[in-house]
Amino acid sequence: MRAKPCSVVLLTLLLTACSEKVPEVDDYDPAHDYFSFANTDQFITEHLELDLSVDFDTQELRGSATLAMRKLDPDATDIVLDTRDLSISGAQILLDGGDSIDAEFHFGESDSTRGTSLILTLPDVARSSTEFGLRLEYATSPESTALQWLPPELTAGGKHPLMFSQSQTVHARSWVPLQDTPAVRLTYEAIIKTPPELLAVMSADNDPLTPRRGIYNFEMPQPIPSYLLAIAVGNIFFVPLGEQTGVYAEPELLDKSVFEFADTQEMLEQAEKLFGPYEWGRYDLLVLPPSFPFGGMENPRLSFITPSLLAGDRSLVSVIAHELAHSWSGNLVTNATWRDQWLNEGMTSYLESRLMEVIYDKDRVDEERVLLYRELLLDLETIPAALQALAPRLDDGDPDDFQGTIHYNKGQLFLQYLENAFGRDAFDRFLFSYFETFAFQTITTERFLDYLDDKLLQAETSKVSRAEAEQWLYQPGLPSTAPVPSSSTLNAVEALATVWAAGDIDVAEIPVQGWSPQATIHFINSLPKDLAHERLAELDAGLGFSATRNAEIGRTWFIQVAQRRYTAAYDRLEQHLNRYGRGRLIEPVYLALAENGSDLELARVMFERARDAYHPLTEANIAGVLGLDEA
Ligand SMILES: [Zn+2]
Repeated sequence: MRAKPCSVVLLTLLLTACSEKVPEVDDYDPAHDYFSFANTDQFITEHLELDLSVDFDTQELRGSATLAMRKLDPDATDIVLDTRDLSISGAQILLDGGDSIDAEFHFGESDSTRGTSLILTLPDVARSSTEFGLRLEYATSPESTALQWLPPELTAGGKHPLMFSQSQTVHARSWVPLQDTPAVRLTYEAIIKTPPELLAVMSADNDPLTPRRGIYNFEMPQPIPSYLLAIAVGNIFFVPLGEQTGVYAEPELLDKSVFEFADTQEMLEQAEKLFGPYEWGRYDLLVLPPSFPFGGMENPRLSFITPSLLAGDRSLVSVIAHELAHSWSGNLVTNATWRDQWLNEGMTSYLESRLMEVIYDKDRVDEERVLLYRELLLDLETIPAALQALAPRLDDGDPDDFQGTIHYNKGQLFLQYLENAFGRDAFDRFLFSYFETFAFQTITTERFLDYLDDKLLQAETSKVSRAEAEQWLYQPGLPSTAPVPSSSTLNAVEALATVWAAGDIDVAEIPVQGWSPQATIHFINSLPKDLAHERLAELDAGLGFSATRNAEIGRTWFIQVAQRRYTAAYDRLEQHLNRYGRGRLIEPVYLALAENGSDLELARVMFERARDAYHPLTEANIAGVLGLDEA
């Protein structure tokens, strides 16, 4: 996933860190998933069958989920599943030979992060079975935290409704009752019934040629963790990009998407050369409406993508490289719990940069690395030390809030450090064997460390000790030996910002037309803090920052506009907040308004005007940033 910026998460993290309870007897187990109720040491799910109807009028999915379960503990009698806002109308145990027996069930413990546990008692006749089916009849709620139901006016076409899911981190349980932990992998199949004019797609074997008739069958033969269960239904059409790749979108977005993502097939082929075989069959993209809360979500075989990448110049496609790279780090080798999330995100950010270097060039990657490093240093100033480790203690709080520059940027830097120390060839061999060894498994940070130790750290020529690796994983901040990314292009851009601010050159002499978006972003971030508003006006008139259609440049500029209270650009700032729904692009702009000392009320007014078009996750985050209760 491409997640929210850490600065926005901070308020929540600080509150969480301050209120965190410290158990008197420390029985913390890093391998335990503290965000699931499921008793996975006693029962494990191996396969899931969904049979669901999609009702846009009531905003519900209704039908059944059948879990193929294996009993691990012969004495266990109760199965505990994760749910959130589900109504369960029936439960049956399915035994070999076709017998079906009603099972007693009740809801148990409940909290805002984990949802509600569902406890099912095995009937006596089923207690000796080590394998059985568990069928649950259920319906979702319109408040499902995974599903967003968009009315026609919030879609590109404006004529048909659209629904999509976002299961990561702990939201699959709000549309399927199951063991919602990345430690469990399952295969699945599904029958999805929709209004006949609409198409359903899933993180499964989508057939681009499937007839549009309101009933769709899916199969996902590779075992995946529950957070990769995904569904979308809408007026969606398909265009191929290459032999194995293509794009789904509303017709109004198809041409732009085909242009923007034209390099996807080549990315896939290059990725296989670097990281090993692509294990998932097809790789397609689904371009969603603006309210999609993230840059992308790596749902296997079908990445969900924000339309804010449609810049018209392919300048933001590193997100596609990122989601594709998750086909190895994350989807193939998965973090065991959300505390190990750097294994998904740091590794993927590193693979993304390697892929971008092959497809584009090293200068572009160096520029991106510098920007990521800068973001990381800024966040390290404010993130509590206990949460600066790549694999910190995490048994409380909300895993959705535990995402940001530490996992992504510090994780990438750690792997860059290892590459520098061992050389690219040796590190590439390590990665290749890592993906081969742990394919279709979930692993902890400790398992990674042992493997790293075995394959690289203990080598005779090793330049990295286990203690040094442990410092990255378990200590705050950055080790003194951490690499410092640099880019000669960005150094020149920074110097130019200083020269212009000093009045030594005119706006017309700034060669912004030849710059990458990363260079423009760095220029904006390099402007002196005390720049007068007239100078900002001069810059904006000359370079057109407020009118940019590049979402990342807009984000950077409007954060500055809000921090500097450059009110002349506030109309454009509000247009930015209405144009995009991706959290990364808008949450820090709201935060900058809220924190500039004067505009908290104005930010709340702008939020009231925009919020109906936002995803519930984004809406809740911004409400939190603005101190509104309903967060
Ligand atoms: Zn990611």
